[in-house]
Amino acid sequence: MPDQTQPDQVQPNAAQQSPGSVAGRLAVVRGRIAAAADAAGRGPDEVRLLVATKTQTADAVLEALAAGVDLIGENRVQELVAKAPAVADRVADGTLAVHMIGHLQRNKINQVLATATGLETLDSLDLARAISDRCVRDDRTGSQALDVMVQVNVTGEESKSGVGPDAAAELAAAVAALPGLRLTGFMTIGARLADTSERGVRAGFARLRAVRDEVLASGAPGTGTATELSMGMTGDLELAIAEGATIVRVGTAVFGPRAAP
Ligand SMILES: *Cc1c(COP(=O)(O)O)cnc(C)c1O
Repeated sequence: MPDQTQPDQVQPNAAQQSPGSVAGRLAVVRGRIAAAADAAGRGPDEVRLLVATKTQTADAVLEALAAGVDLIGENRVQELVAKAPAVADRVADGTLAVHMIGHLQRNKINQVLATATGLETLDSLDLARAISDRCVRDDRTGSQALDVMVQVNVTGEESKSGVGPDAAAELAAAVAALPGLRLTGFMTIGARLADTSERGVRAGFARLRAVRDEVLASGAPGTGTATELSMGMTGDLELAIAEGATIVRVGTAVFGPRAAP
C-alpha cells in the first residue's frame, strides 16, 4: 500500500478527489497532518491517523478504508459490535487496527476483546485487572496481548473519564505489569472545559507527553513499549502534533459534521 501520508502524494490526490467525498476530506486531513508535522520538525510518518467512526454507517467506514485508512476508533461498544462484521476481514489479515476510544464498562469487556485490537481508555486498575484476567483466561498473553493506553484527564476536570495526571504514571506502571495487556502509551481528550485557549490546550497535551516521558524513563517492567501519545482531534490536531502526538483521532474532518444524537 502506498504511503499516502507523503505530502507530495497528498496534494495531487486532494485536487483529484471531490472535496465533499470521504476520500477528498481524508486527503485534506492528511495534508494538515503532514504540514503540522513538518512545522514541528517531524516526519509525516511519525503521526498516525485514527479515524473516529462514531455515528457513521458501516458503508461510510468502508469508504474510509478504501481511501487507505488503517486505524479506526469507536466510542460505543454497541457500534463497535454492529460494524465489526464489515471490517472483520481487514482485522483478520492485520491491515486494520480497531481501537475502543470511548469509556468501557466492565460488563462489556468480552465484546471489546472479541472485536477490538486495542483499548485507549484504561483509567482504573480495577478495569485493567478485569481485562487482564479475561485475556489470561482466553490465552491472550505474550504476542496475543491486548494493546492498551492509559487515558489521562490532563486538566483533572471532574466530569470526564480518565485518570488524573498525578496518578497516571503509577497506574501505567501497574497496568504494564499485568499479563495479557501491552501498554502502548497514553491518550487524552484534552482540555475541554478548563482552559480552551490555544495555550491551555497545548499545555494539556504537553502534560500527557510529560507523563509518557516519566513512565518511559522509569524503566518499570513492561513500560518500554509505552511510546504512543493519542491526542488531537479535528479542531486541535495541529496543536497536538506540535506537542508530540503520535496518533490523532479525527472524525468530523473526515466525515463532515455528525447528526445530533
Ligand atoms: C469523536 C471523538 C473524536 C473525534 O472528534 P472530531 O472532533 O469529530 O474529530 C476523537 N476522540 C474521541 C474520544 C471522540 O469521541
